Amino acid sequence: MVDTILQKAQTAFLSYKRINGKEKARFLRAIADEIENLGPNLIEVIAQETHLSESRIVSERSRTTGHCRMFASLVEEGSWVEARWDTALPNRTPTPQPDIRKMLHPLGPVVVFGAANFPLAYSTAGGDTASALAAGCPVVVKGHPAHPATSAMVAQAIDQAARHTGMPEGVFQHVSGGIEIGQALVAHPLTRAVGFTGSLAGGKALFDLAQQRPVPIPVFAEMSSINPVILLPTSLQTNPELPAKALAASLTTGMGQFCTCPGLVMGVRSAGLDQFIDHYLRAVQSVAPGPMLHSGIAENYYQRVHQTVTATKVTNLLPANPRGNPLHGHPGVAMVAAADFLMTPSLQEEVFGPFALVVICEDRHELTQVISHLPGQLTCTLWGEEAEIQQYSGWLNLLMEKAGRLIINGVPTGVEVCPSMQHGGPFPATTDARFTAVGPDAIKRFVRPIAYQNFPDSLLPAELQPHNPLGIWRIKDGQWGKD
Ligand code: NAP
Repeated sequence: MVDTILQKAQTAFLSYKRINGKEKARFLRAIADEIENLGPNLIEVIAQETHLSESRIVSERSRTTGHCRMFASLVEEGSWVEARWDTALPNRTPTPQPDIRKMLHPLGPVVVFGAANFPLAYSTAGGDTASALAAGCPVVVKGHPAHPATSAMVAQAIDQAARHTGMPEGVFQHVSGGIEIGQALVAHPLTRAVGFTGSLAGGKALFDLAQQRPVPIPVFAEMSSINPVILLPTSLQTNPELPAKALAASLTTGMGQFCTCPGLVMGVRSAGLDQFIDHYLRAVQSVAPGPMLHSGIAENYYQRVHQTVTATKVTNLLPANPRGNPLHGHPGVAMVAAADFLMTPSLQEEVFGPFALVVICEDRHELTQVISHLPGQLTCTLWGEEAEIQQYSGWLNLLMEKAGRLIINGVPTGVEVCPSMQHGGPFPATTDARFTAVGPDAIKRFVRPIAYQNFPDSLLPAELQPHNPLGIWRIKDGQWGKD
């Protein structure tokens, strides 16, 4: 079965990669329209399968249709291919320079693993699918088993969009099945890249599998991040309630089931930090327990909370007990001294859900040590005043090595979809910190540059032809322009 799917995807690739930006844009916009056409029925099905609130589903739907339309505009405009042209210098000595031009081209069939925590925005028509289709790559989605009906409905919408806009058969395929199917898709020789959002164990296993193939391929896996927050003394002296309330809201939004959930908070021991903790516990405690995405995620949450709060010298400040409905997530907070945190590697691992660990440092030196020991993250946040952050600029310098997004006086949840967004970070946050999974630059994961040397104009892609028929931005002999 997997071979038939990938053969079909490869056949589609040979024609889809030649389809121009305007036609791909029509396809991507049609996907957005078809998803909207599913109407309230889709919302109901997602609510049944994921227990997410209607408002969250509606906002995730607009994010999904929004990124389909964003990629449509990107490929319609066309400059994303990064066209470069160095004109020939036949009289250069000692050797003449040939005419060389370069642009980005699609990689080939991409396998996408739907995420449990984003049934729309990172699943069947999610950011990985939309960016791969925009790049010119056919997509095979392995649907997440936690929302099969949602995935099937969205897959039908994409099929419909492909038919209506005349896309080649096999440009999009949807598969359901277990781990073996996923592994066979990644191992298949015609697969050229993989997009994944989920657990560290799953992402790393697929990454390793892809590297062991006779022809290794890139796996863009987004896996595990605890999104540390560092509280500087002034933020705690002046108004500890402000970060406390903001961070509690961020921790418990969507029952903490976001990759950007702030699961680690740290500061230097002080009266201000004690006040922060009081406000923080009150704010977290005021949030009612709510259903988690599926029983596996709820079980995993309580297992990881138990492992954390029973670790040596961890104080369980706000127990997250699975009282009543075992599917419900109860927010929890624990505390540990920095010295113990540094000695217990499991405390640095993600607890997926509304749980935070507060790390108490004795002084600035110890806080520097904790920051230095942190694994790779999607985000790191600093709370403090500008002058103070400048004073502690060494931390900012260290944090740059740890995360893809640095935040000052804000919260990591609520990832904006825009060109300047970076959603990716050093391992284990992702497998490749050079790329983003959110925003138009996500397309760059699924392309590679090809240079054309001494090509006659008639054999060049439109993007590289001398008179620039598409009117895109290019760099010609070192100058930006549309000339
Ligand atoms: P998961 O277990 O990693 O599964 C995600 C997808 O990958 C599923 O389709 C799964 O296949 C597949 N998969 C997992 N391991 C595989 C392997 N070794 N080989 C081939 N395919 C594999 O993630 P999940 O089910 O969504 O949630 C489990 C835990 O992951 C959560 O409790 C949480 O800790 C973490 N998580 C983190 C994030 C984040 O953004 N940081 C997001 C979601 C989940 P099957 O269909 O066969 O299960």
